[in-house]
Amino acid sequence: MAMNRIQFQQGMSLPEFMRTFGTEEQCAQAVFLARWPEGFRCPRCQSSAHCRIGPGGRLYQCNACHHQTSLIAGTLFASTKLPLTTWFLALYLISQAKTGLSSLALRRQLGVSYPTAWLMHHKIMDAMAQRDSTHRLHGAVQLDDAYLGGERSGGKVGRGSENKVPFVAAVSLSEEGNPLYVKLARLSGFTSQAVGDWARAALVPGTMVTSDGLGCFAAVTDAGCLHSPIVVGQRKPRDLPEFTWVNTVLGNLKTTLAGAFHAFDYAKYAGSYLAAFAYRFNRRFDLRGLVARLVIDVVRAKPKALRSVRQAELHC
Ligand SMILES: [Zn+2]
Repeated sequence: MAMNRIQFQQGMSLPEFMRTFGTEEQCAQAVFLARWPEGFRCPRCQSSAHCRIGPGGRLYQCNACHHQTSLIAGTLFASTKLPLTTWFLALYLISQAKTGLSSLALRRQLGVSYPTAWLMHHKIMDAMAQRDSTHRLHGAVQLDDAYLGGERSGGKVGRGSENKVPFVAAVSLSEEGNPLYVKLARLSGFTSQAVGDWARAALVPGTMVTSDGLGCFAAVTDAGCLHSPIVVGQRKPRDLPEFTWVNTVLGNLKTTLAGAFHAFDYAKYAGSYLAAFAYRFNRRFDLRGLVARLVIDVVRAKPKALRSVRQAELHC
């Protein structure tokens, strides 16, 4: 699909969203289906036999082990005082915003406090990061280095600059040379160790990686990948066809960060914003279906990682 066909997708209209997820009951049903697609399963013993107890049947009690759980216990919504409809509206807005949505915009749209909007935003971004971390790229991959922070966010500002957050951008290509999936990941630095660790988590062994001549990129071979360095010399990688798509992604990222997010604490939150951008990019072919997919990914996100989001909140 050409990029302009992606840009002109209709997405899900607000009336359609309201018809699908406009009531608390509809949202609860969607959470139930995402959590227990084959019917209720006790989180402790996996038994399906249960009864509903408490006000409005809010609690599910396992007939086998008598463990009690609620629909949202153990999920990202667990400690919330907000109705599910507010959370779903946040998921809708985040999924449909073509150039990203800031916590500030979320606060305005949802009518909640800024700390609440910030926490919702970061929990949702964390769920997006968790989901995408289960996939690795394979085939032909374009790889480039970039920095967040400074005046040219998302672009190259000189390797080794201080007060910048280094990250790598990788784009896998189809046999026809079209972009498929991206990975954007913060690195501790452009070192062989960091690139090797990243490649083991992000690339399937045997992946053919094309990069410029930056020495640390050779470490992708430590992860069983093949490496084809292109020496760019005096030219800029953006001028070379070998780097067309990774440069396009970096350009889109720059636009998103400049337009929607302005400044945020790059040192602390770069990973979240990069992962959220990649999540949306990787699902760009189905903007309309993205809301329902995001609901599932958010409901299934692991609470373990959410604790670190709350920790981060204490420092914001
Ligand atoms: Zn049980």
